[in-house]
This record gives sequence, structure tokens and C-alpha cells, in this order.
Amino acid sequence: MAALHLENLVPDYVKGFECYIPSKPDQELMKLYGVDHLHRLNNNENPLGPPPQAREIISRYPPPRAAIYPSGDAYYLRLRLAERFGLHPDQFLVGNGANEVIAFAIKAFCQAGDNIVTADKTFAVYEWVAQFSGFQARLAPLKDFAFDEQALWERRDQRSKIIFICNPNNPTGTWWDLGRLRAFLAAVGGRQIVVVDEAYCEFVEHPAFPDCLRLIAEHPNLVVFRTFSKMYALAGLRIGYLAGAKEVVEVIRRTCVVYSVNGLAQEAALAALADDAGHIARTRELVRGEKAYLLQELAALGLPVQSGEGCFLMVRLPMSDTLAYRRLMGQGVMIRSMTGFRFPNWIRVSIGQHEAMEAFVRGLRGIL
Ligand SMILES: *Cc1c(COP(=O)(O)O)cnc(C)c1O
Repeated sequence: MAALHLENLVPDYVKGFECYIPSKPDQELMKLYGVDHLHRLNNNENPLGPPPQAREIISRYPPPRAAIYPSGDAYYLRLRLAERFGLHPDQFLVGNGANEVIAFAIKAFCQAGDNIVTADKTFAVYEWVAQFSGFQARLAPLKDFAFDEQALWERRDQRSKIIFICNPNNPTGTWWDLGRLRAFLAAVGGRQIVVVDEAYCEFVEHPAFPDCLRLIAEHPNLVVFRTFSKMYALAGLRIGYLAGAKEVVEVIRRTCVVYSVNGLAQEAALAALADDAGHIARTRELVRGEKAYLLQELAALGLPVQSGEGCFLMVRLPMSDTLAYRRLMGQGVMIRSMTGFRFPNWIRVSIGQHEAMEAFVRGLRGIL
């Protein structure tokens, strides 16, 4: 066998990066934990499933179309998004989940020696993509569970290219209102790209919550991420997008791989937008009701809770979160242990149907 010089082939920043291990398929987990049912409360999925018109598209997808390459730039979906949000189609870039557009943005703006700035306890993919691409991720601590302007500011230097803000923040549910976001954007000026990840924006009902798509005209350095995975319940089809000023999106488009978004996902997303009012109302109602139920039960158990906007909340346990994960799995309840998010002893639970919430509460009582 010829010698393989992996040592010389692999960059240091890849050597030093630890692989993210996705969880096993449900069937395997059920065998492993000896349960015949699993309540999936680990990924913030929408328990109601996709909106009606998207369901239609999915169930009637003509098999021969699987042989045909999809639109390389999600042509019709961008037209629909533009119409819906009053922007130009070229201001949108669609990716294989919002996860993929994170990589597009970082590749477009960072070169050797550059860095990105974000919070230490937020969606980790910004940090991971930066690091395994060879860029430093400068992490600002949260303040009262929320993104802290001052801390972000202090970590910024001349080589900072992008500041990532998750609004509302996954996992803490905290959010910046319009005034706070505007002030931050004004302070940054055009020196950095400011990404606002609005993966959960459709869940937020508060009138002071900023709709970032409307701020792009005023702030050309603003880039907004959205996804069809959460509210629209198309997580399995992998589709999300970014929006920004034309000249900014034009730059990011250079780093994107065409055909990464499959045709069924494009059509389902298009259909999901066509009749989303009822779907959003039903989902919000479910989340509102079940979150209230959960908060009441958790208060009765005397457990500290961190809850804000979005379809999830966090609970602090008097035990290891990874142990709690295993014990809850033994009762058919899958939650997210938060050590990986730098919240040891905390778990995050997605808001689901009442039955699932009851199973979670029962499970929690059982392990405490
Ligand atoms: C789920 C999530 C995403 C990514 O979703 P995709 O499934 O890749 O579209 C992005 N940001 C946050 C904060 C999320 O929670």
C-alpha cells in the first residue's frame, strides 16, 4: 500500500476541528433505548407539518421530474419572495437550508487572517464554518441570556468581516427590538457585514420585533437569513435563503454552488408561501398554549427556565444534561442536551403537541 501523507495534507485548522456527530436515525435510537415511540423535541421541528398546499405538492410530485435538474437559482421561488417582501428577486439567494447560506456568506467575505464575531452561546454553525474554513470566530459572552452589543463591539477588530446575530436567539429565545438593532447597525456603519439570522422570526408576535427585510434598504451591510425548516416544516427538504442589498448578494452569489437546492424543495417552498397565514396562526396558537402549559409545569417542579420567543425553551436541571438526555430517551422523549451550546446542565426542549409535552413533563418528574 502506498504511503498516505495525511499529516502534510490536512490544514491545522481542520486537524484541530472536532467533527459534529449527528444523532442516529430514530429507528436505531428506539432499539438502543428500548422504546417503541419517540417524541422528537430536539430539533425545533414544527409538529403540525407543512402547510396544506406544500403537502399537495409533495404528495403529487411526478417521479419523472426526479431525472431533471432543478432551477439552478430557484428562479420562481425568488420571484415569489421578492413579490412577498417587496424586494428585487436578485436580492435573494436560496440554499440547501440556511446552514448552507452561512457558508456562502463566510466564503464570500473572509480571507486568510480574517475573523467573524458572534456570541458564545448561540447557534453554533457560524462558529464552526468559520473555524473549519480557517478563520477565527471571536465569541462575545451573552448578557442576561441576550446578545450584548458592547461585548460584540469589543471583540471586533480591523479583520472582522461579519458579525452574526441570531434574532431571536437559539437557544435562549432572547431578541433585540427594532430600536436596539437599528442603533447597532448605525454604530457598525458599513465596516462589517451584519448577518441577522431570523430562523424563528415567523413565531414572534411582539410588535417591536424587527422585520429585517425592511431594513435592508437603509442598511446595505445587512444580510438576513431565513429558513423553511422551522415554521414551514420543510426541514427534511433542506431549503433556506438569505436576503440583502443587490450588490452584496451579487458578491455572495459567486461563492454558491448552483443546483444545491432540489426541485421538490423549491416547489414545496413556493407552495408553502402561497397559503401560510392559516398555518402560521395555527402554529403560533399551538406554541403559545403548550409553552404556557410547560412553563406552569416546570415552575411547579421548581426548575429554572429560560424562555423567550421561538418554538423552544431551556430548562436547568440539578443533574448532568447528557445523563438527563439518556434517561429521557429511555422514556421515549428526545430533547437537546446543552453542554455543546456551552450551557452545561441545561436542556432545550422544542414545543410540540400536548401529548409530547405531557410525556416530557412525566419523563422529567421520573428522572429528578
Ligand atoms: C434551524 C436553524 C437554522 C438552519 O436551518 P436549516 O434547516 O439549515 O435551514 C439556522 N439558524 C438557526 C438559528 C436555526 O435554529
